[in-house]
Amino acid sequence: MSKPVLSVIGETKLELGSGEEQAFGNWRLRRDTGGIAWAILDCENASTNTLSEAVLTDLSKLLDALESQMPELLVLRSAKPGGFAAGADISEFREAGDEEAAAKRLRAGHEVIDRLEGLPCPTIAVVHGYALGGGFELALACDQRIAVDGAWFGFPEVKLGLHPGLGGTFRLSELIDPTEAMTLMLTGKSAHTKKAKALGIIDEVTKERHVDAAVRARLGQKKSRDRRGVKAAILDMGPARKLAAKRMRTQTEEQAPQRHYPAPHALIELREIHGGDRDAMQKAEISSFAKLLMTDTARNLIRVFFLREALKKKASGESGIDRVHVVGAGTMGAEIAAWCAIKGLRVTLSDLKLEALAKAVKNAARMARDAHLSDIEIRDALDRLMPDPKQFGLADADLIIEAAPETLDLKRDLLASIEERARNDAIIATNTSSLELDGLASVLKTPGRFAGLHFFNPVSKLELVEVVSQPSASKETLSRLNAFVGAIDRLPAPVKSYPGFLVNRVLTPYLLEAGLMVDEGIEPVEIDRVAERFGMPMGPLEVADRVGLDVCLHVADTLRDNLDKPISEVPVWMRKRVESGRLGRKSGKGVYVWKDGKPEKDKAKDDGKQLPDDVEDRLILPMLNAAVECLREAVISDAEMLDAAMIFATGFAPFRGGPVHYARQRGKDDVVKTLEQLAARHGPRFTPDAGWADLA
Ligand code: NAD
Repeated sequence: MSKPVLSVIGETKLELGSGEEQAFGNWRLRRDTGGIAWAILDCENASTNTLSEAVLTDLSKLLDALESQMPELLVLRSAKPGGFAAGADISEFREAGDEEAAAKRLRAGHEVIDRLEGLPCPTIAVVHGYALGGGFELALACDQRIAVDGAWFGFPEVKLGLHPGLGGTFRLSELIDPTEAMTLMLTGKSAHTKKAKALGIIDEVTKERHVDAAVRARLGQKKSRDRRGVKAAILDMGPARKLAAKRMRTQTEEQAPQRHYPAPHALIELREIHGGDRDAMQKAEISSFAKLLMTDTARNLIRVFFLREALKKKASGESGIDRVHVVGAGTMGAEIAAWCAIKGLRVTLSDLKLEALAKAVKNAARMARDAHLSDIEIRDALDRLMPDPKQFGLADADLIIEAAPETLDLKRDLLASIEERARNDAIIATNTSSLELDGLASVLKTPGRFAGLHFFNPVSKLELVEVVSQPSASKETLSRLNAFVGAIDRLPAPVKSYPGFLVNRVLTPYLLEAGLMVDEGIEPVEIDRVAERFGMPMGPLEVADRVGLDVCLHVADTLRDNLDKPISEVPVWMRKRVESGRLGRKSGKGVYVWKDGKPEKDKAKDDGKQLPDDVEDRLILPMLNAAVECLREAVISDAEMLDAAMIFATGFAPFRGGPVHYARQRGKDDVVKTLEQLAARHGPRFTPDAGWADLA
């Protein structure tokens, strides 16, 4: 029986064909009288389509039905408003079994996709929203792709320690310039509509309301796949592939060293050896993917994927926050205000200085452009952000975020005056990075609605926000703040007020230890390189410069004053540089000289000379030690949450799965023994925390 399939993007109803309908589990097949069949993917009990084994089995049954009564044209579409399909069902990667079992499952998936590709009738994928990973591979198996404006395509598999595994490695390289195909697969970046069109991924861009006409216009066309030019044929030849592989290997090694990230290197090898030979590529893709699934890197990165999901779950529920007022339009306030406006909230922003407000608006326009918003969306986002020097917005706001300078008295006065003017039911939050919240809450008459919202810099890049509780904060305040963080597309980490909260408590010893090594005469570039080799996205001294040496100093002093255990001395040079205004990136000079937002690193100073054996452990183990202390102090609920917070706030080597996971994989006894040796050699700051005894 024909029944309506209702899906909407914004106000627009999705065009999903009409006519008799047959159900195949996660798919529906509608045949209209004009000879067009619409295969509609609508995963059961899910808001997003993913390509699980069940979805492929159902597709296989749908193909059986098509083969017994072939239409003139087949259209593949998603019924989900958000997009076409988000990729494989990643939970199945965890249950893939051993390498042989994984390869067997992959082969079964390939067979279904091959059957779709081999249908005698022309096939079109109509893509709105995202087509990622397996979703993109499904669209690639069709003869043509029509994109609804705003669609985007990508292979994010490298982020999971994998490469495409359902035919993407050869189908994309066959469709577009293979060099461009490799770049998309190696970087995991996505191509938005305009770029996808320019690359040749899509044949036509249309608006949702014209989908039916666009499909119908293709009725009667012959099935044809080979649209590649001479250039692609040349690039497929052996010598060209070898040359390209050499270049890609060098570039990839810089970004993702093979010993930590084997997947991109496996992909380069696939193309180098088998490029241009589809059958060989297909076999090699399957066995390479199955092999990668068994690596620690993929296992840890898949774990990180689920950690993100766990953080997202903390954000469930309604925040009831539409209007935000931000006090202080400096580095952080400007970013927080712009980000909230970009994410659809109405924001007012106040500062004592008008120049700060003007700069904040300019910064917001840049952030909106970087977020790939259209001109109209940028205009709307900027309309939602109101500079408000007289703080009129404060009285209307559902949430007020204080982002004024890090001075206790100033913040106490400011918070008390905010409370005077705020609505009774408004939440008041502070972005302090080092002041304990109890000392701030005590100035408020209604401390139940007060908590910390600790964003990281830059807000647009670092996904984590610590939602910091203090003893009087109400449950409702905290859960609304968690939901608010989720609503602006960030990840909330509920933590309790503690010196440095969680992230700065764990990170600061690493930054200080690097600083002490500079005092010992080791070159900053060398220290940074050791940390990068471990897998940190950047070295500690570059991080310190980016954060600001003054901010690091302040956090370090706060930790020393408030922790009941020894921590590193602040390096002498750091204090001196801060006193002389050499603050890091923001002042153009810190540890490094900064040009165009990048540190100038004198590679010649990193001459590969032998460094002391313990440099890496001196940098990394203090973080693990502080992490265990935070667990013992119940700063965060558990080790999984802790690992997630450190990965999403600091980029802690994700392929190692987070600090606690790394400690467990390395062996708790080994970590404790090494810390004891370091304490004997370098001082009591390395003394193992009492919490190691309780770590399972
Ligand atoms: P900033 O110095 O860049 O900006 C502070 C702004 O507040 C300035 O524009 C100043 O004019 C304004 N201001 C001062 N007094 C004010 C008042 N009474 N009313 C309104 N505005 C006032 O500082 P920042 O780096 O943005 O830090 C702000 C807060 O965020 C601090 O608590 C800091 O610890 C925290 N934080 C900073 C970072 C970072 O990387 N900079 C990261 C996380 C958290």
